[in-house]
Amino acid sequence: MEKFTKLGLSKELTDVLKRAGFKSPTEIQEQAIPPAIAGKDIIGGSETGSGKTLAFASAIIENLVPNKEIQAIILTPTRELAVQVANSIRDFSQNKNLHVLAVYGGVRIETQINKIPITDILVGTPGRIIDHLNRRTLRLNKVKFLVLDEVDRMFDMGFSRDVEKIINECPKERQTMMFSATISADLDYFAKKYTKNPVRISLKPYVDP
Ligand code: AMP
Repeated sequence: MEKFTKLGLSKELTDVLKRAGFKSPTEIQEQAIPPAIAGKDIIGGSETGSGKTLAFASAIIENLVPNKEIQAIILTPTRELAVQVANSIRDFSQNKNLHVLAVYGGVRIETQINKIPITDILVGTPGRIIDHLNRRTLRLNKVKFLVLDEVDRMFDMGFSRDVEKIINECPKERQTMMFSATISADLDYFAKKYTKNPVRISLKPYVDP
C-alpha cells in the first residue's frame, strides 16, 4: 500500500484498495494520481483495463466535500461503461459518504429524476444527460470535476456536439480530466478549448492519423 500512499492517497482510500487486493499502482495511476489530486487538468492516453478509473476517481474522492449537489460529472460513451464506472467509484468511496448515480437511456427517466437531488457524483451517457438538461431536471452549475472517459469512442459515436453542450453547462472554474485510447485532432481541439495547462500522460506513443 506504500506505493499508493506515496502517490497521495488517504488511508480511507488505501484501506479500500487493500481489501480489493490491489498491490501496486498501474502505470496510468502512477503518473496521473499525483497531478489529479493536486487539482491539475489531465489528458490521459489510456485504454480500458489500464486502471484509469481509479486515476480520476481518486481526485474526486479525495477532494470532494459531499453536500448533495452534483459536483462531479463523468461522461462515458456507453451505458455499460457508465454502470461500471459508477460501481467502481461507489466501491472506492465506501469509506466516504458520497452518493453516486448512473444515468443512461433505455430505462425510465423518473427514477433518475428522483435521485438527482441527493447526488454528489453523476456518471452518464451524453444523450440522457442532455435529456435531463432539456427537462431542467439537472443543473451542472456546481460542478467542480468534469471527466470525459473514452473520448475517442464518444467522438466515433457522434456525441461530440452533445459533449460540448454539456461542458458549456459546467462552470469554467473546474478540474477537467480527459481519457482516450487514441490521441486525435478532435481530442486536441477539445483539449485546447476545454482544459487549462493540462498534464499530458501518454502511455502509448500512438497518434491517430
Ligand atoms: P479500469 O481500466 O479503470 O476499468 O480498471 C480495470 C480493472 O483493473 C478493474 O477491475 C480494476 O478494479 C482493476 N484495477 C485497477 N487498478 C488496479 C491496481 N492498481 N491493481 C489491481 N487491479 C487494479
